[in-house]
Amino acid sequence: MCLQKASQMRSATLHRFLQKSEPGINFIYKLSIFYGEVFLIHEFDALVIGAGGAGLFAALEAGKNAKTAVFSKVHAIRSHTGAAQGGIGAALGNVEEDKPEWHAFDTVKGGDYLVDQAAAMILAEEAVQAVYDLENRGLPFNRTPEGLIDQRRFGGHTRNFGESAVRRACYAADRTGHMILQTLYQQCTKHDVTFYDEFQVVDVLMDGTTCGGIVAVELATGDIHVFTAKATLFATGGFGRMFKITSNAYANTGDGPAVLARRGVPLEDMEFFQFHPTGIQGMGILISEAVRGEGGILRNKTGERFMERYAPTLLDLAPRDMVSRAVISEIKQGNGIRGDKKIDDYVHLDATGIGRETLNNKLPEISSFCRTYLGIDPVDDKIPVQPTAHYAMGGIPTDVNGRVRRDGHGNFYNGLYAAGECACVSVHGANRLGTNSLVDLVVFGRRAGIHLADFIKHADRNNGKSDAAEEAKNKIAGLFKNKKQPSPRGVDLTDKMQRIMMEDIGVYRNGPDMERAVDALRELRKAYANVRVGDTNKAFNTDLLEILELENLLDLALITAESAKNRKESRGAHSREDYPDRNDAQWLKHTLACLENDSVHLSYMDVDTSLWEPKARKY
Ligand SMILES: Cc1cc2nc3c(=O)[nH]c(=O)nc-3n(C[C@H](O)[C@H](O)[C@H](O)COP(=O)(O)OP(=O)(O)OC[C@H]3O[C@@H](n4cnc5c(N)ncnc54)[C@H](O)[C@@H]3O)c2cc1C
Repeated sequence: MCLQKASQMRSATLHRFLQKSEPGINFIYKLSIFYGEVFLIHEFDALVIGAGGAGLFAALEAGKNAKTAVFSKVHAIRSHTGAAQGGIGAALGNVEEDKPEWHAFDTVKGGDYLVDQAAAMILAEEAVQAVYDLENRGLPFNRTPEGLIDQRRFGGHTRNFGESAVRRACYAADRTGHMILQTLYQQCTKHDVTFYDEFQVVDVLMDGTTCGGIVAVELATGDIHVFTAKATLFATGGFGRMFKITSNAYANTGDGPAVLARRGVPLEDMEFFQFHPTGIQGMGILISEAVRGEGGILRNKTGERFMERYAPTLLDLAPRDMVSRAVISEIKQGNGIRGDKKIDDYVHLDATGIGRETLNNKLPEISSFCRTYLGIDPVDDKIPVQPTAHYAMGGIPTDVNGRVRRDGHGNFYNGLYAAGECACVSVHGANRLGTNSLVDLVVFGRRAGIHLADFIKHADRNNGKSDAAEEAKNKIAGLFKNKKQPSPRGVDLTDKMQRIMMEDIGVYRNGPDMERAVDALRELRKAYANVRVGDTNKAFNTDLLEILELENLLDLALITAESAKNRKESRGAHSREDYPDRNDAQWLKHTLACLENDSVHLSYMDVDTSLWEPKARKY
């Protein structure tokens, strides 16, 4: 086909052409030239967006039988999973008695009963095999003197349905996520999975309720690529970058959920965003719960171990939502330690009782963070900490096989899957327990990969009716051309959004603040229409990619604020000053939020409470 002719084709026509072409070949056609730009078209069986733990596990399974490509906007092994420190929870019972049933119960109770209980049971039961699977694939876990995988304590994990803390977290020093990522990446490269590193996915090819692939921008060249496939799985991780103080990497901008939301996919339980109680003051860099698991203690300005008043049984190892509220309450009552500004007030994490040997051997990264960022040694000095935005409990709604839900009535998209932090199965409910995200990645990443591989065997290719590539091209061209003067700079809008989210949709919330936040976020979304990309280069244009990420964050911030404003109760991480109690009669239900231009349409879905009756949480 001659290039001029191809360049006049609309992408729908192009896809029809591709369908008639020889199968099994990785097509690369240069089409539709714009500002020196081309679309490059590729064909696979399966696409996995995201190379964190969830994406890599899914790719390993899918790659066994299907031609699979994995995309990552950063190099694969720089995915945020690599920053996970403390551990992966599994009831191995290596150090003391433990059972998957106890793990499932803790998960349900920790999630303030918004967890789908059968899914939590799958998580806890399959966690055991998943950890041994990782061990067999070469993951170097810490060992007991007998040579078994060692285990330590973590928040909210208990023996015998809440009796006392249990050692359930399997760990590789405080580099557990790093080791998982390295292990899975090696396995993927061994099994012929194709990696597209530094490709940023900007849209999906949706034809009604069927997903036929994705559109991506290549960082190195600025080219727009179209990838078609029978099945696409999103594993793009979290979106803590909505908030000013966060433990999340710069790449955690919620691209997957936002791209899908703009194509009509509902998002589940977005109001539940976890604040981890121990981020380094002012920076948000995470000090793992493993420090408290090894004996670290939270203290207020008088040196009091204040968790004795908030959670008499589990103390510093109560679930994160409770500990974060306790820290903020202490600060509000004037028991915090004074920072430069009031917003900087903090408490101390006292790790001095742990001892040099354990700190060096089991928490080396944390110790080095303290020396690098704070100039202190945790062996002798207390660590200044404050709550930091950490984990998205909500996201793309899926069943236990990763299939994306269209609604709350059991309908699904064809060929569209999600797993990991960007998904909502839902096993974390209103508050995730520490170590349960890494379990979620390997258990549900694997399950989604298996289901997807099976789906591909029987599915037809469907990429006929989407103009997403042209739309992406026009959107990007618009961001370069924006003429309005002065154009807002993306960085100003980012800062405003992060402050609104931190102040009004933070650990404590109330109606008037959230109302104000929603209005302000709407204004920011309007202002976004005038944003202009400063850097006019095509190659390595990170300015452009960050501005595309900002759109995603703004959309998710609005959905989060609207979902939170409408939930008139306090549950897990959603704590309202004007509705301080949990209200099961009216609110024991999942939120489903659909973005429709400037508004968010909310509906609700039943919670699976088939195993345990919801009860008040006491720790
Ligand atoms: C500092 C820190 C410590 C943690 N410690 C623990 C712990 O000890 N235990 C635990 O259970 N959990 C922990 N967590 C949580 C856990 O690490 C994360 O929830 C989990 O790793 C997320 O994995 P994921 O596979 O979903 O996504 P990620 O690992 O975040 O990977 C996302 C992937 O998607 C790609 N991507 C995103 N957008 C695009 C796009 N537009 N185009 C192409 N690619 C894209 C990224 O490049 C990346 O490859 C921690 C989190 C943090 C931040």
